Amino acid sequence: MRADVAGALAAAAWFGPAAAPIAPAVAAAFRVPRRLPGAGIAITFDDGPHEHGTPAVLELLAEARARATFFLVGEQVERAPSLAAEIAAAGHEVGVHGYRHALLLRRSPRALRDDFKRAHDVIAEATGTEPTLYRPPYGVFSGPALLIVRRLGWRPLLWSRWGKDWVAKTTPAAIAARAMRELGRGDIVLLHDADHYSSGDSWRRTAAALPEVLAGAAATGEPLVSVSQSR
Ligand SMILES: [Zn+2]
Repeated sequence: MRADVAGALAAAAWFGPAAAPIAPAVAAAFRVPRRLPGAGIAITFDDGPHEHGTPAVLELLAEARARATFFLVGEQVERAPSLAAEIAAAGHEVGVHGYRHALLLRRSPRALRDDFKRAHDVIAEATGTEPTLYRPPYGVFSGPALLIVRRLGWRPLLWSRWGKDWVAKTTPAAIAARAMRELGRGDIVLLHDADHYSSGDSWRRTAAALPEVLAGAAATGEPLVSVSQSR
């Protein structure tokens, strides 16, 4: 199975977010969790911080009194450390999404370890917290990367629902509908508060969809939790 997955990944490796649809197969092969271990629904935001997207999302989360998890990119935290600090200060969880937003494939264990540690250190310094969650760019793990993440004592994590909010031809309604499809206990929802690695201004559509997603999640009766709150 792993050899098949590796082959598929090699073929898909250079198509950016297009690699994301094969992530569930990879997650299964590597036994990377896609759901919470316990109760609740976790809303997660990747690729930030972003000077406009992050404040927009933070404001909506505050209005809804919802807690979320942000998987931060080290190079973006360096550009906007105060925004990273704001995320943590608002009570949200922060995780590692790499120092550079690049696929993990075809990179040496040493390069991977350096990237992860650099991201961790930048995030820890900016937020004053120790991130222990890790989600790879494009949701694609490699075997060596997973080994390193586990040796660092971090939790690798993917997602079970997404809004596909990175594509150019989508709408807030489509993002919300997709994110909420069969939403329930244990789901982890993938969204993006930044357009650094996706279509321009994608965060605007995400922010416009977010109130409906938060209301839909609340309507399930499940609490909105950060990833580490769910046990
Ligand atoms: Zn990403």
